[in-house]
Amino acid sequence: MTTTNIITINGYTQECSCEHCGRPLKLGVKTGEIGTIGADCFVKLIAKDKKRYSGNGKPSAEMVKQHAIIITKGLEYAARCHGLYAQSFQFQAGREAAHRI
Ligand SMILES: [Zn+2]
Repeated sequence: MTTTNIITINGYTQECSCEHCGRPLKLGVKTGEIGTIGADCFVKLIAKDKKRYSGNGKPSAEMVKQHAIIITKGLEYAARCHGLYAQSFQFQAGREAAHRI
């Protein structure tokens, strides 16, 4: 149990299955806290943050996949080429995920 309830994107895995729902995935998003999951499940499992994302307060699944690909190239690359920082890969867990962390 941690008290932070943060889900961190660490990278991606190709051709795997989602550790949340078991669905086969072309690209699984690796997280430090809840294993490798699909981008759609990732979006479902994080909390809404309307300051960070307009509309429904969540990133799109496509955006999550892009983050997963970018982080494998390192934070220096992420900052230089995409303006992303360590915090960009950290998301507040929603209620369902918080039980699992
Ligand atoms: Zn899933």
